[in-house]
Amino acid sequence: MPAQLLDGNTLSKKLRAEITARAAIVTAKGVRPGLAVIVIGDNPASQVYVRNKVKACEDVGFYSVLERYPAELGEDELLARIALLNADPKIHGILVQLPLPDHIATERVLEAIAPEKDVDGFHIANAGALMVGHPEFKPCTPYGCMKMLESIDYPIRGARAVIVGASNIVGKPMAMLLLQAGATVTICNSKTRDLAHHTKDADILVVATGKPKMISGDMVKNGSVVIDVGINRLPDGKLCGDVDFDAAKYIAGWITPVPGGVGPMTITMLLMNTLEAAEKAVKK
Ligand code: NDP
Repeated sequence: MPAQLLDGNTLSKKLRAEITARAAIVTAKGVRPGLAVIVIGDNPASQVYVRNKVKACEDVGFYSVLERYPAELGEDELLARIALLNADPKIHGILVQLPLPDHIATERVLEAIAPEKDVDGFHIANAGALMVGHPEFKPCTPYGCMKMLESIDYPIRGARAVIVGASNIVGKPMAMLLLQAGATVTICNSKTRDLAHHTKDADILVVATGKPKMISGDMVKNGSVVIDVGINRLPDGKLCGDVDFDAAKYIAGWITPVPGGVGPMTITMLLMNTLEAAEKAVKK
């Protein structure tokens, strides 16, 4: 019996309807949620991601600005632009699309964004707040994964969760959110010995490595929830995840497809964070 699909498109649609309704309420109170997206250089994937983000903003009734700069933009110029957006009352969320060109220090840029407008949740203040359990914003991808678990009422408390991948934007915040929800969490990285030993024990398996299909069916526990964050383009142009979906779907109880799983949820949670920032602005 194949696993049930954790369909990110369907769940996103439901959440975006809620976001649209809440955005209309704050807009009526004089605060239209506003997101600024900055993209530097002409990385084709980044261009697609930012276009999707801006389109998603339009669809839910947000104000949005997309600022594109050439790859040669200086770090100081970028920091000056962020300072202006930090002070702009029409903007509640600022997102700088990664990766940045090598001559720009990513950390310096992320930390220049005011924490209360850091809707990606990457500022060190938000990362620290997440660690102690009260983040201003949860990073969008892990937040989306948690929403997917919530959507199936998965009993996270006491479950064994294994996260493969330990990046600052996915693996580590995912571990924190699962830990705070009561899971017993293991984080694996590229040096982990006998990875399958860990993954086969996981009630919840989250994979974010950027290694196409590296989790084979026999690395998955029967009946588990498998959340595949990876987005990889194969030589034939097709997208695939970090999990061998066609094999794992016969073993897992729930599984996310790629595309159509975590990807749409990431954008939806960006909208949610921007909305929440605007709602906080109304209360001020
Ligand atoms: P990073 O490259 O920053 O991190 C990858 C992590 O995976 C590292 O911790 C690395 O270990 C670990 N890793 C690599 N190879 C192995 C291995 N063989 N066994 C175990 N661990 C391994 O990647 P990101 O977190 O930024 O992204 C991961 C994937 O998720 C990519 O495909 C990316 O495109 C996708 N992504 C998708 C999003 C979405 O919205 N769906 C959003 C963000 C990312 P080590 O620390 O030892 O180097």
